[in-house]
Amino acid sequence: MERNIFEKIRDGDAEASIVYKDEYVTAFHDINPDAPIHILIIPNRKITSMNEISEEDNVYLALILLTAKKIAQDFNITESGYRLITNCGKDGGQEIDYLHFHLVGGTHLGKMISLPKNKKNINIM
Ligand code: AMP
Repeated sequence: MERNIFEKIRDGDAEASIVYKDEYVTAFHDINPDAPIHILIIPNRKITSMNEISEEDNVYLALILLTAKKIAQDFNITESGYRLITNCGKDGGQEIDYLHFHLVGGTHLGKMISLPKNKKNINIM
């Protein structure tokens, strides 16, 4: 089966600006950044999305968080603050079917959720 772009980056078969890599995780700059610092962190085991995580992935998931903390330190945004996001599925805005966490910072990020203009009146479930 054809590997997707994040699998190729993980395997070193597609170009990416790698920030950190070890046995469990790979982190690289987002090609189309939404903030001055926008880094993607993926587990080296292919997990399609949050919907597919299981207890077997616990080491990968823990190391993603620890890697995010380390990268935030390396990029000097620990004090100023940052956001760690994963998008899941269509409504979540997930474009690449490989679990990834966006580490964004380097500026004030504003409100967490931006809805399209025609969806401003929401009904709370
Ligand atoms: P999501 O919408 O959560 O699936 O995020 C996918 C992210 O991957 C987007 O922010 C894209 O800019 C980013 N992206 C897509 N292709 C590449 C690539 N080749 N290298 C780095 N980032 C990429």
